[in-house]
Amino acid sequence: MKKLLLLFSLTFITLFTFGQGRNCPSVVDLSLMQTQNPARYQQFMNLESFTTNYINNQGGANYRLADPNGLIIIPVVVHILHRNEAVGTGLNISLAQIQSQIDVLNEDFRRLNVNRINTPAAFTGVASDYNFEFRLACQDPNGNSSNGVTRRFTSKTGFQFSANSNGTANENSIGIKTTSSGGEDPWPTDRYLNMWVGNFTDGTLGYATFPGDFVTNPNADGVVITTTSMGRTGNVLAPYDGGRTATHEVGHWLNLFHVWGDANCGDDLVVDTPQQQTANLGCPAFPHRTCGNTTNGDMFMNYMDYTDDGCMNVFTNGQRLRGRALFAAGGPRAAFLDNYFRIQQPASNIICTGTVNLTNPNCLPTTWSIVSGPATLSSAGNTQVTVRATGTGSVALRAIAGNYTSDININVNNSGPSASNATLIYPSGQRGVDPVPLCAGCAYNFLVDFVAGATSYTWVLPSGFSFVSGRNTSTPGIRTSSVSGTYTLYCSANNACGTSWTHSLVINVGSGGQQQRIAVYPNPTQQDLNIEYITTNDDLTISSTDKTENDDFSVKLFNDSNQEVRSGLSSDGKLTIDIRDLKDGLYYLRVTDTKGTKTMQVQIKR
Ligand SMILES: [Zn+2]
Repeated sequence: MKKLLLLFSLTFITLFTFGQGRNCPSVVDLSLMQTQNPARYQQFMNLESFTTNYINNQGGANYRLADPNGLIIIPVVVHILHRNEAVGTGLNISLAQIQSQIDVLNEDFRRLNVNRINTPAAFTGVASDYNFEFRLACQDPNGNSSNGVTRRFTSKTGFQFSANSNGTANENSIGIKTTSSGGEDPWPTDRYLNMWVGNFTDGTLGYATFPGDFVTNPNADGVVITTTSMGRTGNVLAPYDGGRTATHEVGHWLNLFHVWGDANCGDDLVVDTPQQQTANLGCPAFPHRTCGNTTNGDMFMNYMDYTDDGCMNVFTNGQRLRGRALFAAGGPRAAFLDNYFRIQQPASNIICTGTVNLTNPNCLPTTWSIVSGPATLSSAGNTQVTVRATGTGSVALRAIAGNYTSDININVNNSGPSASNATLIYPSGQRGVDPVPLCAGCAYNFLVDFVAGATSYTWVLPSGFSFVSGRNTSTPGIRTSSVSGTYTLYCSANNACGTSWTHSLVINVGSGGQQQRIAVYPNPTQQDLNIEYITTNDDLTISSTDKTENDDFSVKLFNDSNQEVRSGLSSDGKLTIDIRDLKDGLYYLRVTDTKGTKTMQVQIKR
């Protein structure tokens, strides 16, 4: 029965009378709310407008659903608050008891409950399958695997419901939703249905938040169940031992009000539930007529009445549409579908091969596909897939699990490492010298100029050479052979495409001696050329024969026509040559000290 909201009136005082039947304090008296909390009232009215629009248009777009009327799967996390009992005893209820509650939700919301045969024929025409499925989450908010259950010791010997003056739950006083207050902090309420289970000692069977409050109070969102009404096996007490307390509370979470509208002959804003005077307790005989519903009477077997668990057996089509509206684009639970099954955009382009992750907190069996673009897939899982580029460009990647789809575009690249114009390998301080004279049995820092796209390097050493450090890097330490002679060293740049760039360097072992201790910089240069003995050990020079005490050296600079254009002498280990009047081009620097002469290539470039 749907009628003007103004006809609501205040009757919920009776609802707090304990010990004579079901007690659920999730009461909404909209007329009272309008005067006591106009802002909250406006939120509820906005959601009613949204819901009415959804229902009038019979569905509409559900983001990420292939079929707007198809299955919606809701990840559930159950927070158990216990007193240090062993798992499966006392308040620390077993996983089997928790799972039995999930089973009841799935039966009731899919109309697969065994006692659906008890729905009177007068109401079977409006009886409904929500097409919702509840599953304990298999991923926690960080993406780690989980069984969807948290267990925490609570310092509270019992919880008590407490209401604010406007009728909403006083969560600060109750404490079950906050770890620091003896409860458990929620998992993100925009992607998990949080269900807290604790020992309520005031007769409260459970309570729930309404989606109309989600925007302003997301951290309270979810349902609360007293331990002895959780599930239908283990630690449950009759007559609320059939798991219907949670069915009822999740009904609130899905925007249902009590069927009597929390008022005398009130309105629950559902078109196909009869108007009824007040809550029914126990299990009345059909028909039970009130408020002039003289034909079929109250729908006391509706999950949103107060009857015993064994008496409840039906949701209606009107109730279903209110719940499904929440998940439509723009609805307060739309983020559930958006956040629930979503391919995560990689932080960078995929070069050759890479993994892409999927948020999938129920680990739904997932089918991956490349819709378009140059790539193939391998190692597909329910939370991750490996993409391998077969070309370069944009790839449309899709994941499907039942009624869910998620699409992203990624850029892939399958080219191997590409050498820049002047890519070289060389010992530190001797860039461009080829062949390079080095001393026998000495260790040097080698370098390779930046190679675009490379992720590792393979150095192939001649006989008698060995690595000191950095074997697969662009800066390995390499010791030369102790045998003088001419050797060739190779370096390949690699990435996941498996292709590589290779360069070689000819080394004259035994002709060097001291020059590895001479640095020439900058090179290329624009105005000055600095030549100095390296006094730190950063070139890994460890051979005792390298360690000259004589810092004197002379230099001569030749142009590419072999004309001497500069010369100089150093007695303190360093020298700076002004080359501003020399034109751009390649030059050769000859350095001579007591141990010999070495020639290095120098470039002037402006
Ligand atoms: Zn209720």
